[in-house]
Amino acid sequence: MAQHIHCIVSDCHYYAQGNLCKANEILVATDAFGEKQPDQIDATMSSQYTAEQAGTCMATCCKSYVPKGSNMTTQDGVKKMS
Ligand code: SF4
Repeated sequence: MAQHIHCIVSDCHYYAQGNLCKANEILVATDAFGEKQPDQIDATMSSQYTAEQAGTCMATCCKSYVPKGSNMTTQDGVKKMS
C-alpha cells in the first residue's frame, strides 16, 4: 500500500507541491526529544530510540525537517524521492 505523508510545512527541503512530504522516511518525535538531539539523529536510526509519551499533539514535532535551500540536507541520511 502506498503511503502518503501530508505536510503543510512549505519551507522544508522534503516538502512538495500538493502538500506532500517526499522524504523516503521521517521521524516524528516529542518536542523534548527533538530539542536535545542534533540534526544527525533522525529516521535512519529510529529503531535505536526509546518511544516516549507526548501527551498532546502540541508536544510533537517532525525531527526530519530540514530548511529548504540549506546545506543541511545530507546530515540525517534521509533521501528526497522524486
Ligand atoms: S520532513 Fe517533516 S516537515 Fe519536512 S515535509 Fe516531511 S513531514 Fe513535513
